[in-house]
Amino acid sequence: MIDQSEEASKVGQVCTVSVSQSLLRRPPLGEENAYANALAQFEKAISHMKLKKGVADTLRYPKRELSVSFPVLMDNQEIRMFRGYRVHHSVVRGPTKGGIRYAPTVTLDEIRALAMWMTWKCALMGLPYGGAKGGVVVDPKELSSRELERLTRRYATEISILMGPESDIPAPDMGTNSQVMAWIMDTYSMHRGFSVPAVVTGKPIEIGGSLGRTEATGRGVAVTMREAMKLKDMGQENATVAIQGYGNVGSVAARMAHDMGFKVVALSGSRGGIYRADGLDPAAVDMHVGESGSMLDFPGADNISNEDLLILDCDVLIAAAVENQITSRNADKIKAKIIAEGANGPTTPEADEILNDRGVFVIPDILCNAGGVTVSYLEWVQDLQSFFWPVEEINLKLEKLMRKSFESVMDCARVHNVSNREAAQILAIQRIADAIMIRGIYP
Ligand code: NAD
Repeated sequence: MIDQSEEASKVGQVCTVSVSQSLLRRPPLGEENAYANALAQFEKAISHMKLKKGVADTLRYPKRELSVSFPVLMDNQEIRMFRGYRVHHSVVRGPTKGGIRYAPTVTLDEIRALAMWMTWKCALMGLPYGGAKGGVVVDPKELSSRELERLTRRYATEISILMGPESDIPAPDMGTNSQVMAWIMDTYSMHRGFSVPAVVTGKPIEIGGSLGRTEATGRGVAVTMREAMKLKDMGQENATVAIQGYGNVGSVAARMAHDMGFKVVALSGSRGGIYRADGLDPAAVDMHVGESGSMLDFPGADNISNEDLLILDCDVLIAAAVENQITSRNADKIKAKIIAEGANGPTTPEADEILNDRGVFVIPDILCNAGGVTVSYLEWVQDLQSFFWPVEEINLKLEKLMRKSFESVMDCARVHNVSNREAAQILAIQRIADAIMIRGIYP
């Protein structure tokens, strides 16, 4: 075993490895670059490992990247061009798995980072997958339903050279949902000439989706949050929780936390949030959103900004929105004792340092939000065998896997005296490194 060279372990520097020079160009440094952050986390984790240098090199860069530009016919008969990506980070442990994001802020570097995190997440959870991610630069809220369907079907066709139930299985992420997955499944199936439900997960139940999938990520967040509170000897009853992001992940986590007896004191979306010291009932907030189109001005609550929500005095902060929310600018002001990373990459490496020094307990994203891909795996298995399980069985399997991985991460953190994030990544990276060595380097 050769230790990682010091030179290669510094993010932002060119490392001396035998891969092509174009691969060695690092993304610009800066806290906002998700890929630079993913690489910085990787370097930190492997600094505690005895990883073969060449093995580490293979894991720094995505296996393959597809960039596509494609036209979509809009409702007013104009043709508009869109940019999309699909990135496979690693295929060592199985077909690639990862969501598709629709957002105006999507960049190739962001998709690379998200694909890398998916590789770690699948390995940490023991799922037989490599990591992938896809995205389209679009604000889905600006499109009509027909436009969104045409965009989805065209994007699915563009990336179909990578996609397949044995090769690459997408799922929903920010800005996409079960309907988008249904259009992708239908498009792929039309091209094959028969139905291929296992090509995507997060589908509607009617076409091979799994019970429990929609709630799985939020449920997993709540399970890990409960485990962390037990570990920290914090009473669950009336413990206060603030949640940034009220989409699929945040809203389910809010509901579960409320049902578990936590006091959900704050919620937010991209346009701001609401705060009520005595607690909010997520069901009532949902009703208010349904009637007014926004959670703002919820009766009995104060409107607050996203920035203020993050630094509220509370026991648990659930970051369930986007990357780079907890940074060097606000990490020293965070008052929560536990941060549950429902989102991918909400905390920058600079903020990580500050939080570690301050003893804030972080449940890292690749563990905290792994419930989604775990039930996606269960959906894929059910599709492949055309045999579907009751929701109780799925939730039981999910909780068991989440608790097992939580314990493994805590054990690893103790043994190596590292942060929870480093521990989670060490466990994951070692499993992938072992798979690389067992398979051997082709040819
Ligand atoms: P979503 O589109 O359903 O919801 C996103 C929410 O975040 C919305 O409430 C939106 O208003 C809010 N938001 C967006 N930008 C914001 C900002 N700058 N500040 C505050 N709020 C903002 O997406 P989702 O599926 O809930 O995903 C949220 C996060 O969880 C993403 O990081 C995603 O990658 C991650 N994640 C999702 C899943 C899943 O199964 N959906 C699984 C694992 C991880």
